Order: sequence, then structure tokens, then C-alpha cells
Amino acid sequence: MISSHSSDTPTPTRPSSKSSFLLRATAASSHFRILAIDSSALVLEAQQRHNLSPDASAALGRLMTGAVLFSYILVKHENSRVMLRIQGDGPLGYVVAEGSSEQGKATARGYVQHPEVELPLRLQDGKLDVRALIGAGDLGVSRLLPGSEPYTSSVPLVSGEIAEDLAHYLLHSEQIPSALLLGVYLEGGVVHTAGGILVQAMPEASEADLATLERNIAAIGNLTNALQNASLLEVVTRVTEGLSLELLEEATPLTFECRCSRERLVAAMGYFSAEERQEMIDNGGQEAICHWCNTHYQLTAQEITSLEE
Ligand SMILES: [Zn+2]
Repeated sequence: MISSHSSDTPTPTRPSSKSSFLLRATAASSHFRILAIDSSALVLEAQQRHNLSPDASAALGRLMTGAVLFSYILVKHENSRVMLRIQGDGPLGYVVAEGSSEQGKATARGYVQHPEVELPLRLQDGKLDVRALIGAGDLGVSRLLPGSEPYTSSVPLVSGEIAEDLAHYLLHSEQIPSALLLGVYLEGGVVHTAGGILVQAMPEASEADLATLERNIAAIGNLTNALQNASLLEVVTRVTEGLSLELLEEATPLTFECRCSRERLVAAMGYFSAEERQEMIDNGGQEAICHWCNTHYQLTAQEITSLEE
């Protein structure tokens, strides 16, 4: 497998000029709610920030895209977030992603335990083997609401392919029947196309409309293949063919955004013992790294001293 850890060598095929965005729509007289994301630029940024292997990019890209989708259906308040955490026994270790949706914008961030891990491609189709990377384990879904304790529920993974696991969670833990497609496609080891589509079926949806939806989704096949040859809106139009698609608003921009700051990292040094902090001060400061976005902060001895006061 070609691996690319060289985040500073752009290739002409990279979608870096393209920004990620989300579309919201309904179909079949609002009996279906549709959320669709082109997350190519978002997942590429995650790959570059964390120096992710192609395998790790595929897993984190799927989970980050899923976290943004979940933030639209599981939390209703402003400044609320959804965190998804997969803990498997595969070589990738844990994968964590957070998504949030606010008026007019969506954001995500995430990281994996072992960003360098790579496995051989799957024998049957030559694709990245996300299931083998993740292994068996649990999916934790946390709602992070302003001013209250996080509410987390955890379910066993049913597949390790992530889309199936998230759809299974929605059905069995939230009673939300849905169809969920997630995909990340890499070219030369670099994230090229990524996206997700979630269709939520309301109880009023008719059997005939459900059958049409199922046929349309089967005809799409692989989401990232479809997205390489058509725009996100065109793919959504194909998913809802015969079901009268209605777009709800203009596209919402989606960006990689972290909540870390120098002040937060300085405050986090308070978790160390006085002796450990004194050692940092004696060394003239301490480097602190945000695990969400991999930003390195060089904290000064004065900043660490300020915690004692
Ligand atoms: Zn950060």
C-alpha cells in the first residue's frame, strides 16, 4: 500500500480548494429526513493534522462524518455536541470524534489512538479493511449539552464498519430507523473524497416509499464512488428519486474546529502534582499537545508558575 505521511506535498487531485458542507432536505411529504455531507476537505485536514495512515484516515473520517450527522438529530440546543467513541480490540485502538451543529455552521474534530497503523487491503475487493482495524468492542455516544453533565450510552459494535454500527445504534437505542452511508476514498494514500448520507424514516413513511428508498440506495452502491462522479446534491437526488426531494436551506459549511486554547492547556497542567509542575518550571517550560487537533503549545515557566498563585 502506498502510504502518505507527507502533509506538505500537495498533489493536483487533492480537494483542498473545496470546502466541506452539509445539505438538509426532506422527501416523500417530509416522511423522510435527509442529511448529506461532503466531508472531503474535513477528513483531509484530519489526516494532515494527525499524520494519519490511509487506514486511520478511513476510520476517523467515517466516524467524524457520523458525529456531525448525529449532532443534527440527537441534540437540539445551541452549543451542544455529540461525541462518538469507538473502543475496539483491533490495532487502531480507540477512535474518537465530536460533531456540532449551530445556526449556519457545523464543526467536527477527532483523533485515533494509533494514527500510524496500516493493514493489508481486503482480499475480496482490494479496499481498506476498517472492520479488521477496529475489531470487536463498543460504541459510546455522548450528548454534550451546555451546563449539564455529559449523557453517554454505550452499545456493542455489530460490524466494525462504522456506518452499520451507527445505524444500529440509532435504531435500537434511539428508535430512529435510518439508512446511513459513510465513505472515505483515498488516492495515493491521501484523502480524496469523503462523505455521508443519513435518511431518517418517520413513522408515517409508507411501505412503498421505503421500498423505493431502499432500491435507490442499493443502486448508488458505494457512496464515495458516486461522489467522485457527481455532486453531493446529485447523489441526494438519486437517493430520493421518485420521492419528491425538497431542500431545506442553503448548504451549511462544515469545518475542522477544535475547542482547545492556550488557557485551557495551561489550566490542564493543574492536574499534575506540585513536584511535577516544579520540574516543568525548572526545565524552562513544558510542551503541551492537544490530542484533538495535534496543536503543540510551548507553555512557559511563568505560565506554569501562575497556577501556584
Ligand atoms: Zn485542539
